[in-house]
Amino acid sequence: AKDQGRCCFKFYSDSLNCRARERLELEQELRKAIENNEFALHYQPQIDVSADKIVSVEALIRWHNPKHGFVSPAEFIPIAEETGLIIEIGEWVLKKACQQAKFWLDEYGSEYRVSVNLSSVQFKRGSLVGYIQKVLKETGLPANLLELELTESAIMTDVEENIIRLQQIKELGVGIAIDDFGTGYSSLSYLKKFPINTLKIDRSFITDIATSADDAAIVKAIIALAETLNLAVIAEGVETTGQLQILRGFNCSLIQGYLFSKPLNANDLEALLINESHL
Ligand code: C2E
Ligand code: CA
Ligand code: CA
Ligand code: CA
Repeated sequence: AKDQGRCCFKFYSDSLNCRARERLELEQELRKAIENNEFALHYQPQIDVSADKIVSVEALIRWHNPKHGFVSPAEFIPIAEETGLIIEIGEWVLKKACQQAKFWLDEYGSEYRVSVNLSSVQFKRGSLVGYIQKVLKETGLPANLLELELTESAIMTDVEENIIRLQQIKELGVGIAIDDFGTGYSSLSYLKKFPINTLKIDRSFITDIATSADDAAIVKAIIALAETLNLAVIAEGVETTGQLQILRGFNCSLIQGYLFSKPLNANDLEALLINESHL
């Protein structure tokens, strides 16, 4: 059954047509995915470099569809954004992540923060702040244990409006991180006007940090910038001890990446948290 959904040169000479068809199929499946309980959240730890402890987790959506198998968020999130389905999916993600973080808080008394990715489509909605407030109230999660990740491009269009929205989110007590930092068009003068808490250095700068003097210099500069602006900084996609050593040398506060852990389902992450609390 899985093969039916896959694109295949066998049946379509025109590969463009084929991709359009596959996209349409994905879209149709996506419409039923929440109802059919096909989504799950995985959680990837974010580690305090100096204390060697997990301080927070990033929630990452996973979709398993009976017809298409596992579909990467890099593939279906853009479709969800174009069709508006991201609103419903995003609301599901936020609620699920807050419920889970509240559960860990109650179960272990440990204050793990959860980071949730927010699409620019969600961010632009006037009802966003009210929805966040509602979810915090319904789940009972303290606002300081939630952080929202937004990309540079999401906040760098309509800057003045966005500052107001970010301010409203901040007033709830919820943190804001800029995701994939360095890949967009952040104007440094705006950066200090945004009420944000965290910069997440994009993985593309971390990959060659041990061998490229340029990349190392960029990362060092971003960390210095974060320090100046009083922001936390997370290095994304840390895979090797060599990368970690350099980041330590730069006084990077937090790291996230396969070196420490891949994104894990709630049970596996919980095992990691229990293990850590007994160290
Ligand atoms: P992102 O927000 O930049 O998330 C980080 C991605 O890098 C994740 O991919 C994660 O699994 C991967 N990653 C983490 N550590 C490493 C590493 O050491 N090496 C490598 N090679 N990769 C690493 P994932 O889960 O496939 O998500 C891809 C993108 O999809 C995310 O990028 C985000 O933009 C989007 N996404 C995922 N979940 C959600 C969601 O719930 N809502 C929205 N709006 N977007 C989401
Ligand atoms: Ca992210
Ligand atoms: Ca990122
Ligand atoms: Ca990304």
